[in-house]
Amino acid sequence: MSETPWARPVEENAAAVRAGRLSAVELAEVALAEFGRWEKRKAPPLNAFLALDAEDVRRQARAVDERVARGEDPGPLAGIPVAVKDNICVHGLPTTCGSKILEGYRSPFEATAVRRLRAAGAVIFGKTNLDEFGMGSSTENSAFGPTRNPIDPERVPGGSSGGSAAAVAAGIAPLTLGSETGGSVRQPAALCGIVGVKPTYGRVSRYGLVAFASSLDQIGTIGRRVRDAFLALRVIAGHDRFDATSGAVPVPDFRAAWDAGARGLTVGLPREYFTGDLDTGIAARCQEAWKALESAGARIREVSLPHTQYAIPAYYLVAPAEASSNLARYDGVRYGPRAPSAGSTIEVFEVTREVGFGREVKRRIMLGTYALSAGYYEAYYGRAMRVRAKIADDFARAFESGLDVLFTPTSPTVAFKLGERVGDPIKMYLSDVFTVTANLAGVPAISVPIGSVDGLPVGGQLIARRWDELTLARAAAALERALA
Ligand code: GLN
Repeated sequence: MSETPWARPVEENAAAVRAGRLSAVELAEVALAEFGRWEKRKAPPLNAFLALDAEDVRRQARAVDERVARGEDPGPLAGIPVAVKDNICVHGLPTTCGSKILEGYRSPFEATAVRRLRAAGAVIFGKTNLDEFGMGSSTENSAFGPTRNPIDPERVPGGSSGGSAAAVAAGIAPLTLGSETGGSVRQPAALCGIVGVKPTYGRVSRYGLVAFASSLDQIGTIGRRVRDAFLALRVIAGHDRFDATSGAVPVPDFRAAWDAGARGLTVGLPREYFTGDLDTGIAARCQEAWKALESAGARIREVSLPHTQYAIPAYYLVAPAEASSNLARYDGVRYGPRAPSAGSTIEVFEVTREVGFGREVKRRIMLGTYALSAGYYEAYYGRAMRVRAKIADDFARAFESGLDVLFTPTSPTVAFKLGERVGDPIKMYLSDVFTVTANLAGVPAISVPIGSVDGLPVGGQLIARRWDELTLARAAAALERALA
């Protein structure tokens, strides 16, 4: 894999394409060949992709090369293949969200993030597998079979953006889009040994991202190195009139962050993330990581985020509550297949949803409907929202006390075995214990590889204040370099 162009930073490959030294078609052929190697092999395929139109990929690549030949500049991602999670709409391609209820649906429009990727010269390279509607932490909840972890095919790649993470880790595409509602970019990035960024809520337009929990959802980027992920983020970020929650906040040029280093940064270690329950191998990698940051000139300080223990219960009320409302639109009338045997309109709804949704999605709809029902609304949803505000306050206070970033583990464990947690939803939910807090608070966060335990990758998480992706990028680049 190291001999493919993905061994070089995305920026360099794109510059070579713009200069006419490398063709977009060559890059597309590399991605297609790697795709074939992993997805068409005799050993169990990765199953990282739900759709790929090779001819369309070649057509896009040729168009980029033709622009270069005409003397035009296709943009900062010229000729770079970028795969897209299958809950983000790409014009003309299927969008299934990993669900039978959307089987056969083709998107008649394009997500703003995808439109911006194309405008920057990227080649859209198919749709990646995910837990149904983003609900899960292992990609095992996909109606189209689980994705495998390229590092160990008996293990999960994490989720819900498991296909996007596996595609990068396997060396198929150098960049992918994922989405986050509660850790779904960072956790699979950690389990696959690569980089995943979740931006500030409102940084990237949600237009064309299929809604799971609208107050938490954000599109994020996944790449092999910090610079790659931020290059893609810069392209897709910024205000969009099609998403009223997208912020009119200037997007920084992250290049300023690469050489700034760790000196002068104050890094907080929240003690609630480093309790006795943490896997000892992961705790050891974390300690090495912050020591490396310290040696590079950062100040390290312990800090408390006292409401951390309530994050999982709050998240698993807020997210299902919003999901139960967002998923009401899948009724067999407006999208996807309709159950054929049904009689009355109500029966159409019932039968379509009964056969169309998987177990976890049904569980979430029931949880959310219950939490929002009259008489329970205040006790569950109302309370969860107050806890959410307290978690956001914890972060705000930590940053006010002079911290620039927080450092934590990304996931409490390394990649687990396929099947290990499917029968135990609570255990699965606990995979998100370190990641859902940033979604609840709306702050930006990243997972960076910090070594391995028994050959399985470990991710370290950095979290910054709202809209401060520049400091996040700086700290992440410094960490990456300190461990290199
Ligand atoms: N594990 C989280 C959940 O199941 C992940 C959600 C996400 O970020 N899409 O809700």
